[in-house]
Amino acid sequence: MDEFSIIERISQLVKASDDVPVGIGDDGAVIDVSGASQLVTCTDTLVLGTHFPEQLSPDQIAYRSLAVNISDVCAMGATPRFAQLAVTLPSASEQWVDEFCMGLSRGLRESGTTLIGGDTTRGPLSVTFQMIGELNGPPVTRCGAELGDAVLVTGTLGDAAAGLRAIMEVEDNDLQANARSQLISRFLEPVARIELGRELPNVAHAMIDISDGLVADLGHIARDSGVGIEVDLDAVPLSPSLQSCYDFDDAVNLALCGGDDYELAFSLPEDCIERCSEIAAAANTTVTRIGRIVQGDGVVVHDARGAVYQPPAGFRHFA
Ligand code: ADP
Ligand code: MG
Repeated sequence: MDEFSIIERISQLVKASDDVPVGIGDDGAVIDVSGASQLVTCTDTLVLGTHFPEQLSPDQIAYRSLAVNISDVCAMGATPRFAQLAVTLPSASEQWVDEFCMGLSRGLRESGTTLIGGDTTRGPLSVTFQMIGELNGPPVTRCGAELGDAVLVTGTLGDAAAGLRAIMEVEDNDLQANARSQLISRFLEPVARIELGRELPNVAHAMIDISDGLVADLGHIARDSGVGIEVDLDAVPLSPSLQSCYDFDDAVNLALCGGDDYELAFSLPEDCIERCSEIAAAANTTVTRIGRIVQGDGVVVHDARGAVYQPPAGFRHFA
Protein backbone atom coordinates (compact mmCIF):
# COMPACT_ATOMS: atom_id res chain seq x y z
CA MET A 1 0.00 0.00 0.00
CA ASP A 2 1.21 3.52 -0.63
CA GLU A 3 0.64 6.55 1.58
CA PHE A 4 -2.58 7.55 -0.11
CA SER A 5 -4.17 4.12 -0.07
CA ILE A 6 -3.40 3.92 3.67
CA ILE A 7 -5.02 7.32 4.23
CA GLU A 8 -7.96 6.20 2.11
CA ARG A 9 -8.35 3.02 4.19
CA ILE A 10 -8.19 4.95 7.48
CA SER A 11 -10.58 7.63 6.30
CA GLN A 12 -13.19 4.97 5.56
CA LEU A 13 -13.56 4.63 9.34
CA VAL A 14 -14.84 8.14 9.68
CA LYS A 15 -18.45 9.13 9.17
CA ALA A 16 -19.50 12.69 8.38
CA SER A 17 -20.35 14.56 11.53
CA ASP A 18 -21.96 17.94 12.15
CA ASP A 19 -19.20 19.18 14.42
CA VAL A 20 -16.51 18.39 11.82
CA PRO A 21 -17.54 20.46 8.78
CA VAL A 22 -14.16 19.68 7.13
CA GLY A 23 -12.51 16.38 8.10
CA ILE A 24 -9.92 14.09 6.54
CA GLY A 25 -9.00 15.01 2.97
CA ASP A 26 -8.14 18.68 3.05
CA ASP A 27 -5.06 20.56 4.31
CA GLY A 28 -6.64 20.95 7.72
CA ALA A 29 -9.72 19.88 9.65
CA VAL A 30 -12.38 22.30 10.82
CA ILE A 31 -14.17 21.59 14.08
CA ASP A 32 -17.18 23.26 15.58
CA VAL A 33 -17.04 23.41 19.36
CA SER A 34 -19.57 26.13 20.04
CA GLY A 35 -20.72 24.41 23.26
CA ALA A 36 -17.30 24.21 24.89
CA SER A 37 -15.94 26.72 27.36
CA GLN A 38 -12.34 25.72 26.69
CA LEU A 39 -10.48 23.05 24.74
CA VAL A 40 -7.83 20.68 26.05
CA THR A 41 -5.27 19.21 23.70
CA CYS A 42 -2.63 16.60 24.31
CA THR A 43 -0.41 14.32 22.28
CA ASP A 44 1.55 11.16 23.06
CA THR A 45 3.79 9.06 20.86
CA LEU A 46 4.11 5.32 21.32
CA VAL A 47 7.25 3.76 19.87
CA LEU A 48 7.76 0.05 19.24
CA GLY A 49 10.15 -1.39 21.81
CA THR A 50 9.87 1.63 24.10
CA HIS A 51 6.16 1.92 24.83
CA PHE A 52 4.88 -1.40 23.60
CA PRO A 53 6.52 -4.77 23.05
CA GLU A 54 6.89 -6.66 19.75
CA GLN A 55 4.15 -9.05 20.87
CA LEU A 56 1.35 -6.53 20.33
CA SER A 57 -0.87 -6.92 17.28
CA PRO A 58 -1.68 -3.92 15.06
CA ASP A 59 -5.21 -3.97 16.50
CA GLN A 60 -3.84 -3.75 20.03
CA ILE A 61 -1.31 -1.04 19.14
CA ALA A 62 -4.06 1.17 17.71
CA TYR A 63 -6.47 0.61 20.57
CA ARG A 64 -3.92 1.14 23.31
CA SER A 65 -2.35 4.23 21.70
CA LEU A 66 -5.72 5.90 21.38
CA ALA A 67 -6.73 4.99 24.94
CA VAL A 68 -3.62 6.47 26.57
CA ASN A 69 -4.18 9.76 24.77
CA ILE A 70 -7.85 9.81 25.73
CA SER A 71 -6.79 9.23 29.32
CA ASP A 72 -4.72 12.44 29.33
CA VAL A 73 -7.75 14.47 28.25
CA CYS A 74 -9.83 12.80 30.99
CA ALA A 75 -7.15 13.67 33.55
CA MET A 76 -7.74 17.36 32.80
CA GLY A 77 -11.46 16.97 33.52
CA ALA A 78 -12.43 17.21 29.85
CA THR A 79 -14.50 15.11 27.47
CA PRO A 80 -12.36 13.64 24.64
CA ARG A 81 -13.81 14.58 21.24
CA PHE A 82 -11.43 14.72 18.27
CA ALA A 83 -8.32 12.73 17.37
CA GLN A 84 -5.50 13.17 14.91
CA LEU A 85 -3.27 10.22 14.08
CA ALA A 86 0.32 10.38 12.86
CA VAL A 87 1.52 6.90 12.02
CA THR A 88 4.99 5.86 10.86
CA LEU A 89 5.31 2.39 9.34
CA PRO A 90 8.41 0.48 8.17
CA SER A 91 6.38 -1.16 5.41
CA ALA A 92 2.71 -1.17 4.77
CA SER A 93 1.06 -4.51 4.34
CA GLU A 94 -2.64 -4.35 3.68
CA GLN A 95 -3.24 -6.88 6.45
CA TRP A 96 -1.35 -4.76 8.98
CA VAL A 97 -3.31 -1.66 8.03
CA ASP A 98 -6.62 -3.54 8.15
CA GLU A 99 -5.90 -4.92 11.61
CA PHE A 100 -4.74 -1.51 12.79
CA CYS A 101 -7.98 -0.01 11.49
CA MET A 102 -10.00 -2.58 13.46
CA GLY A 103 -8.45 -1.50 16.76
CA LEU A 104 -8.71 2.14 15.78
CA SER A 105 -12.35 1.86 14.84
CA ARG A 106 -13.21 0.01 18.08
CA GLY A 107 -11.40 2.62 20.17
CA LEU A 108 -13.07 5.54 18.41
CA ARG A 109 -16.51 3.96 18.71
CA GLU A 110 -16.19 3.05 22.39
CA SER A 111 -14.87 6.48 23.35
CA GLY A 112 -17.28 8.46 21.17
CA THR A 113 -14.36 10.31 19.57
CA THR A 114 -13.94 11.31 15.92
CA LEU A 115 -10.79 11.00 13.82
CA ILE A 116 -10.29 14.30 11.98
CA GLY A 117 -6.86 13.96 10.38
CA GLY A 118 -3.29 12.86 10.70
CA ASP A 119 -0.12 12.05 8.84
CA THR A 120 1.32 8.90 7.29
CA THR A 121 5.04 8.30 6.83
CA ARG A 122 7.58 5.52 6.33
CA GLY A 123 10.11 4.72 9.07
CA PRO A 124 10.46 2.76 12.34
CA LEU A 125 7.02 1.92 13.74
CA SER A 126 5.51 4.65 15.90
CA VAL A 127 2.00 5.90 16.55
CA THR A 128 1.17 9.43 17.69
CA PHE A 129 -2.31 10.60 18.53
CA GLN A 130 -3.30 14.13 19.26
CA MET A 131 -6.55 14.39 21.21
CA ILE A 132 -8.75 17.42 21.59
CA GLY A 133 -11.23 17.51 24.44
CA GLU A 134 -13.96 19.86 25.59
CA LEU A 135 -14.14 21.35 29.04
CA ASN A 136 -17.42 22.35 30.58
CA GLY A 137 -15.87 23.68 33.76
CA PRO A 138 -12.42 24.72 34.97
CA PRO A 139 -9.55 22.39 34.02
CA VAL A 140 -8.33 20.09 36.81
CA THR A 141 -4.55 20.53 36.80
CA ARG A 142 -1.72 19.00 38.83
CA CYS A 143 -1.14 22.13 40.86
CA GLY A 144 -4.39 22.66 42.75
CA ALA A 145 -4.10 20.21 45.67
CA GLU A 146 -4.84 21.82 49.06
CA LEU A 147 -3.87 20.89 52.60
CA GLY A 148 -6.44 18.58 54.14
CA ASP A 149 -7.68 17.23 50.78
CA ALA A 150 -8.40 13.52 50.55
CA VAL A 151 -6.57 11.60 47.79
CA LEU A 152 -8.54 9.07 45.76
CA VAL A 153 -7.92 6.74 42.83
CA THR A 154 -10.23 4.99 40.38
CA GLY A 155 -10.28 1.24 39.73
CA THR A 156 -7.45 -1.03 40.85
CA LEU A 157 -3.70 -0.52 40.52
CA GLY A 158 -0.79 -2.71 39.46
CA ASP A 159 -2.76 -4.85 37.02
CA ALA A 160 -1.28 -3.42 33.82
CA ALA A 161 2.31 -3.76 35.07
CA ALA A 162 1.57 -7.38 36.01
CA GLY A 163 -0.03 -7.87 32.59
CA LEU A 164 3.05 -6.53 30.83
CA ARG A 165 5.22 -8.94 32.83
CA ALA A 166 2.94 -11.78 31.80
CA ILE A 167 3.21 -10.78 28.13
CA MET A 168 7.01 -10.65 28.32
CA GLU A 169 7.42 -13.94 30.18
CA VAL A 170 7.07 -17.28 28.48
CA GLU A 171 5.32 -18.78 31.45
CA ASP A 172 2.44 -21.17 31.45
CA ASN A 173 0.51 -21.50 34.63
CA ASP A 174 -2.87 -23.06 33.91
CA LEU A 175 -4.14 -22.49 37.43
CA GLN A 176 -3.98 -18.75 37.00
CA ALA A 177 -4.76 -18.58 33.30
CA ASN A 178 -7.93 -16.58 33.89
CA ALA A 179 -6.33 -14.06 36.20
CA ARG A 180 -3.34 -13.75 33.87
CA SER A 181 -5.49 -12.95 30.88
CA GLN A 182 -7.37 -10.32 32.87
CA LEU A 183 -4.09 -8.68 33.85
CA ILE A 184 -2.85 -8.80 30.25
CA SER A 185 -6.01 -7.12 29.01
CA ARG A 186 -5.52 -4.34 31.57
CA PHE A 187 -2.20 -3.61 29.81
CA LEU A 188 -3.51 -4.03 26.28
CA GLU A 189 -6.82 -2.26 26.71
CA PRO A 190 -6.64 0.51 29.27
CA VAL A 191 -10.05 1.95 30.09
CA ALA A 192 -9.85 5.73 30.16
CA ARG A 193 -12.16 7.13 32.84
CA ILE A 194 -14.17 9.33 30.50
CA GLU A 195 -17.48 9.44 32.39
CA LEU A 196 -15.86 10.16 35.74
CA GLY A 197 -13.11 12.58 34.69
CA ARG A 198 -15.39 15.02 32.93
CA GLU A 199 -17.58 15.36 36.06
CA LEU A 200 -14.66 16.34 38.30
CA PRO A 201 -14.17 20.03 37.43
CA ASN A 202 -15.64 21.98 40.39
CA VAL A 203 -15.18 18.85 42.56
CA ALA A 204 -11.50 17.82 42.41
CA HIS A 205 -8.66 20.24 43.21
CA ALA A 206 -5.90 18.36 41.36
CA MET A 207 -5.80 15.33 39.08
CA ILE A 208 -3.41 13.15 37.07
CA ASP A 209 -3.71 9.86 35.23
CA ILE A 210 -1.46 7.06 36.42
CA SER A 211 0.87 6.21 33.54
CA ASP A 212 4.21 5.88 35.33
CA GLY A 213 3.07 4.41 38.65
CA LEU A 214 1.10 5.71 41.62
CA VAL A 215 4.03 7.04 43.66
CA ALA A 216 5.72 8.66 40.66
CA ASP A 217 2.54 10.30 39.41
CA LEU A 218 1.32 11.50 42.81
CA GLY A 219 4.82 12.95 43.08
CA HIS A 220 3.93 15.31 40.20
CA ILE A 221 0.86 16.56 42.08
CA ALA A 222 2.92 16.97 45.27
CA ARG A 223 5.65 18.95 43.53
CA ASP A 224 3.40 21.09 41.36
CA SER A 225 1.01 21.86 44.25
CA GLY A 226 3.79 22.47 46.78
CA VAL A 227 2.43 19.88 49.22
CA GLY A 228 3.20 16.42 50.61
CA ILE A 229 1.04 13.33 50.04
CA GLU A 230 0.53 10.48 52.52
CA VAL A 231 -0.64 7.17 51.11
CA ASP A 232 -2.04 4.33 53.25
CA LEU A 233 -0.60 1.12 51.88
CA ASP A 234 -3.54 -0.99 53.03
CA ALA A 235 -6.01 1.26 51.24
CA VAL A 236 -4.41 0.90 47.78
CA PRO A 237 -6.99 -1.02 45.71
CA LEU A 238 -5.75 -4.38 44.39
CA SER A 239 -7.75 -6.56 42.01
CA PRO A 240 -8.57 -10.20 42.84
CA SER A 241 -6.59 -11.18 39.70
CA LEU A 242 -3.46 -9.41 40.91
CA GLN A 243 -3.79 -10.92 44.38
CA SER A 244 -4.25 -14.40 43.00
CA CYS A 245 -1.06 -14.17 40.92
CA TYR A 246 1.22 -12.38 43.43
CA ASP A 247 1.81 -12.40 47.16
CA PHE A 248 0.89 -9.21 49.02
CA ASP A 249 4.35 -7.59 48.88
CA ASP A 250 4.76 -8.07 45.13
CA ALA A 251 1.18 -6.98 44.48
CA VAL A 252 1.51 -3.71 46.41
CA ASN A 253 4.86 -3.02 44.81
CA LEU A 254 3.31 -3.39 41.39
CA ALA A 255 0.44 -1.15 42.50
CA LEU A 256 2.77 1.54 43.87
CA CYS A 257 5.47 1.53 41.20
CA GLY A 258 4.08 -0.23 38.11
CA GLY A 259 2.83 2.03 35.34
CA ASP A 260 0.29 1.76 32.54
CA ASP A 261 -2.89 1.52 34.62
CA TYR A 262 -4.36 4.79 33.28
CA GLU A 263 -6.54 5.16 36.34
CA LEU A 264 -7.18 8.67 37.66
CA ALA A 265 -5.64 9.94 40.91
CA PHE A 266 -7.09 13.14 42.34
CA SER A 267 -7.48 15.22 45.45
CA LEU A 268 -10.63 16.89 46.75
CA PRO A 269 -11.91 18.44 49.95
CA GLU A 270 -13.35 16.04 52.55
CA ASP A 271 -16.84 17.43 52.09
CA CYS A 272 -16.80 16.55 48.37
CA ILE A 273 -16.18 12.83 48.94
CA GLU A 274 -19.85 11.97 49.05
CA ARG A 275 -20.57 13.92 45.86
CA CYS A 276 -17.61 12.14 44.24
CA SER A 277 -18.96 8.72 45.27
CA GLU A 278 -22.29 9.55 43.63
CA ILE A 279 -20.54 10.65 40.44
CA ALA A 280 -18.45 7.48 40.46
CA ALA A 281 -21.50 5.25 40.95
CA ALA A 282 -23.25 6.98 38.04
CA ALA A 283 -20.10 6.46 35.94
CA ASN A 284 -19.91 2.77 36.92
CA THR A 285 -16.43 3.34 38.30
CA THR A 286 -15.06 2.49 41.72
CA VAL A 287 -13.15 5.16 43.62
CA THR A 288 -11.04 4.45 46.68
CA ARG A 289 -9.68 6.90 49.20
CA ILE A 290 -6.00 6.11 49.60
CA GLY A 291 -4.51 9.08 51.43
CA ARG A 292 -4.36 12.79 52.13
CA ILE A 293 -2.61 16.04 51.28
CA VAL A 294 -0.29 17.23 54.06
CA GLN A 295 2.34 19.87 54.64
CA GLY A 296 5.76 18.94 53.29
CA ASP A 297 6.91 17.53 49.99
CA GLY A 298 7.00 14.23 48.16
CA VAL A 299 4.94 11.08 48.60
CA VAL A 300 5.18 8.93 51.73
CA VAL A 301 3.57 5.49 51.96
CA HIS A 302 2.61 4.16 55.42
CA ASP A 303 1.89 0.54 56.23
CA ALA A 304 -0.87 -0.57 58.62
CA ARG A 305 1.34 0.07 61.68
CA GLY A 306 2.11 3.60 60.51
CA ALA A 307 5.70 2.78 59.54
CA VAL A 308 7.09 4.29 56.36
CA TYR A 309 6.99 1.69 53.60
CA GLN A 310 9.81 1.55 51.07
CA PRO A 311 9.28 -0.39 47.86
CA PRO A 312 12.30 -2.67 47.39
CA ALA A 313 15.18 -1.19 45.41
CA GLY A 314 15.49 -2.48 41.88
CA PHE A 315 11.80 -3.14 41.65
CA ARG A 316 11.40 -0.83 38.69
CA HIS A 317 13.31 -3.27 36.50
CA PHE A 318 10.23 -5.34 36.00
CA ALA A 319 7.66 -2.58 36.38
P1 ADP B 1 -0.92 17.36 3.25
O1 ADP B 1 -0.01 16.99 2.12
O2 ADP B 1 -1.79 18.56 2.97
O3 ADP B 1 -0.25 17.43 4.59
P2 ADP B 1 -1.65 14.62 3.47
O4 ADP B 1 -1.54 14.03 2.12
O5 ADP B 1 -0.58 14.36 4.45
O6 ADP B 1 -1.99 16.17 3.32
O7 ADP B 1 -3.02 14.13 4.12
C1 ADP B 1 -4.24 14.22 3.38
C2 ADP B 1 -5.40 14.13 4.37
O8 ADP B 1 -5.37 12.88 5.03
C3 ADP B 1 -5.34 15.20 5.47
O9 ADP B 1 -6.66 15.57 5.78
C4 ADP B 1 -4.75 14.44 6.65
O10 ADP B 1 -5.19 15.01 7.89
C5 ADP B 1 -5.30 13.04 6.44
N1 ADP B 1 -4.42 11.98 6.95
C6 ADP B 1 -3.15 11.64 6.58
N2 ADP B 1 -2.68 10.60 7.27
C7 ADP B 1 -3.66 10.25 8.14
C8 ADP B 1 -3.78 9.27 9.17
N3 ADP B 1 -2.80 8.39 9.46
N4 ADP B 1 -4.94 9.21 9.85
C9 ADP B 1 -5.92 10.07 9.60
N5 ADP B 1 -5.89 11.01 8.66
C10 ADP B 1 -4.78 11.12 7.93
MG1 MG C 1 -1.44 20.35 3.17
